Amino acid sequence: MLYPWQSEDWQRLNAERERMPGAWLLTGGAGIGKLAFAEHLAQSLLCENPGAGHQPCGQCQACRWFASGTHPDFRRLSPFSDEDEEGKESKTTRKLPQIKIEAVREVIDFAHLTAHRAGRRVILVEPAENLNLAAANALLKILEEPPEAVLFLLVSHAPQRLLPTIRSRCRQFALTRPAEAAALVWLREQGIANAEVELAHNGGAPLFDHDPDLAALRAQFVRGLGQPSFAGMLQLAELVDKNKQLSLLQPLSWLQKWLHDLAALCLAGRLRYYPDQERALSALAARCDTTQLMACQRGLTELAPFAQHTLNNRLQLEAVLMDYLMIFAGSKAG
Ligand SMILES: [Zn+2]
Repeated sequence: MLYPWQSEDWQRLNAERERMPGAWLLTGGAGIGKLAFAEHLAQSLLCENPGAGHQPCGQCQACRWFASGTHPDFRRLSPFSDEDEEGKESKTTRKLPQIKIEAVREVIDFAHLTAHRAGRRVILVEPAENLNLAAANALLKILEEPPEAVLFLLVSHAPQRLLPTIRSRCRQFALTRPAEAAALVWLREQGIANAEVELAHNGGAPLFDHDPDLAALRAQFVRGLGQPSFAGMLQLAELVDKNKQLSLLQPLSWLQKWLHDLAALCLAGRLRYYPDQERALSALAARCDTTQLMACQRGLTELAPFAQHTLNNRLQLEAVLMDYLMIFAGSKAG
């Protein structure tokens, strides 16, 4: 399935089918539908009866297998393929999920088999930046000498983190971020309330996990940030602490985006995440100490990697919010 904003990208890609590479690297920001695009491309390559514009038919045996995740000529390489093992591991060690060399070896074996059906095999690697070094090197070997009729689709929102040698073996294809209007139409069709606010908060990328309770909590948190006071900050920390299932990462990211917009206003830039809070942010920007603002941003960046492990969310958040208060300490209104 393609998202409505992807039809131009699809046509652009179709124009390159004549000289199909052995590997594509699909890039673009997070949350714009790169994986769906890659899956649609994989299905269209495996489909036995593609229609106009290379659209997969959705009816043939290959399409049915693809939809049920059982196509014998398709493999998916992702850190979540082996969910039990990876899931357990990342919960206890808190490491970033990785694509490991064993998984790459397995798809290399697969790539050297003969195809079951139409003769083509497709291997989807997503997100490619999660290949660890050994896995990346193993993949590089097969990209250097790709078996006949095997196509690799690498998907990445951080291609600069891939080995340059891998990048150079792939044809890069940058997917477009949807225009705001198109993203809003789609979000409203999905029944998302406050689509503008939510889209802005997610930096313009429409594919995000939407949780209305969390959005309400965020709105409350953001209102508190708009009226910084000692008592108010303690209340915010308490508010977050009461929601035990909430990771500290959430309020930290809300605050990080808030500080981004505050800094943008101080530099006469454009609001990115909270355009609906322009009035509150402008009032704050007028009395803000930019040195303290930068110190607070630095503090947040340093804390973020540890935010998942922290034992006392409330104390941590209180400390961060006190730093936030310092941004306005020099002004009488604070
Ligand atoms: Zn088909």
